[in-house]
Amino acid sequence: MTAIVWFRRDLRLRDNPAWADATRAHQRVVPLFVIDPRLWRPGERRTTQLVAHLAALDAGLGEWDGRLCVRHGAPAEVVRSEVRRLGADAVYVNDDYSPYAVARDAAVAGDVPLERFPGVAIHGPDEVMTAAGTPPKVFTPYHRRWAELSWGLWPDAGSASVSSDPGDGLRAETAPPTLIGGEAAAVSRLAEFLDRVDDYHEVRNRPDLDATSHLSSDLHFGTLDARRVRHEVGGSSKGRSAYVRQLAWRDFYLQVMYHNPSSVGRELRPEYSGIAWINDAEDIDAWKAGRTGYPIVDAGMRQLAGEGFVHNRVRMIVASFLVKDLLVDWRIGERWFRRHLIDGDVAQNVGNWQWVAGTGTDAAPYFRVFNPVSQGRKFDPAGDYVRRYVPELAELGAAGIHAPWELGPLELAAAGIELGDTYPEPIVDHAVARERVLRVYAAAKESAG
Ligand code: FAD
Repeated sequence: MTAIVWFRRDLRLRDNPAWADATRAHQRVVPLFVIDPRLWRPGERRTTQLVAHLAALDAGLGEWDGRLCVRHGAPAEVVRSEVRRLGADAVYVNDDYSPYAVARDAAVAGDVPLERFPGVAIHGPDEVMTAAGTPPKVFTPYHRRWAELSWGLWPDAGSASVSSDPGDGLRAETAPPTLIGGEAAAVSRLAEFLDRVDDYHEVRNRPDLDATSHLSSDLHFGTLDARRVRHEVGGSSKGRSAYVRQLAWRDFYLQVMYHNPSSVGRELRPEYSGIAWINDAEDIDAWKAGRTGYPIVDAGMRQLAGEGFVHNRVRMIVASFLVKDLLVDWRIGERWFRRHLIDGDVAQNVGNWQWVAGTGTDAAPYFRVFNPVSQGRKFDPAGDYVRRYVPELAELGAAGIHAPWELGPLELAAAGIELGDTYPEPIVDHAVARERVLRVYAAAKESAG
């Protein structure tokens, strides 16, 4: 009896329900990863990171005297042909919920017996329902229900023999990964965060302190199991409970995407589908390059380009700036983020972009327009975050660093800054842009009736 375990975004051997069940129920297991040309972008951060995780998974299988069988090609065809070649009885997977993944799995499930497990979320998208049996649209009731559900850690793996065929092997990536690959390194990252988690509720909004877990990428690739993270964090302090609540946001957006697959490219609230975006090419380029003249926005965009990561508060600020201040279609920002983020994930990214744009199920109301200066002053009070990523402003003190145009020429000169030369003038006046976006959103809402 041979089973295939088809790994996708569950790149671990511990806390993996599909792997555990297959290795318990079958004598022989073939661990398979299919490199899908549609998702393979050599040189991009997530591809480099994926290769590092796959290499570590392959090495981890050494404990079983096994190898990861890597194949290249369209997943549905590859899986079908591997089933035939190996005479496999079943293919074990952990479900994924993006529209692409759902369609891909449906294409396979017609011909191949798929054994499906909910190993990506803590609670899958059909588990958290209202009394009427519908998925909650708003996070607060979702979270209430989510927190009440019972759950446990996934079982340990069994004792099947594991195939040692490496298949076509991995194509080498030349760039080093952002994070050390594999589940052991991810577990160390979690352990390191557990030393700091008790303060999480107080410091999580402070990009200057960089006090969040940075585990989003491990959760995206599945080098960490979300249930394991919840278990290790527990709830014995305010910081720990606040952290677990953020994990519920992750499940929430997985659920929103699963039940609303068209939200990948369409507003969840149809009344905002007719917004008159400006989409000015120069504005978009300035945003991407971190040259908008708003220091906290520029710091965030440069952190994204340089590290493939941005603090959550700053993600909200830069996204709001693009959509609301520059009136650029949220889909343009969503694509840019997804391309560059090490944790770029369709459900999380689209859900959050629609939240910021005010078009999501549980979105910030459209008239909430983040002020990049007051946000900077509140959450980066000494300006250290800006100083780290916008070195040309490093000599400015806390009072001026978030709005250098408010300083006099002498102060700017003393800090070696010439606005419009060493650092850009603001590309838009926030107060004017705020009035503009309120008019445009109101008009879209009105014409939608
Ligand atoms: P922590 O503060 O340590 O949070 C712990 C975990 O909770 C995170 O790892 C993440 O899995 C989850 N989480 C936290 N905040 C959110 C949230 N707002 N939504 C959903 N899950 C959350 N997250 C992604 O994983 N992938 C994305 O592509 C992504 N795009 C985003 C785009 C925008 C415009 C915004 C505003 C947020 C986005 N987020 C995304 C959510 C959030 O910013 C990141 O998960 C978080 O910053 C990752 O850092 P961390 O692991 O240190 O977070």
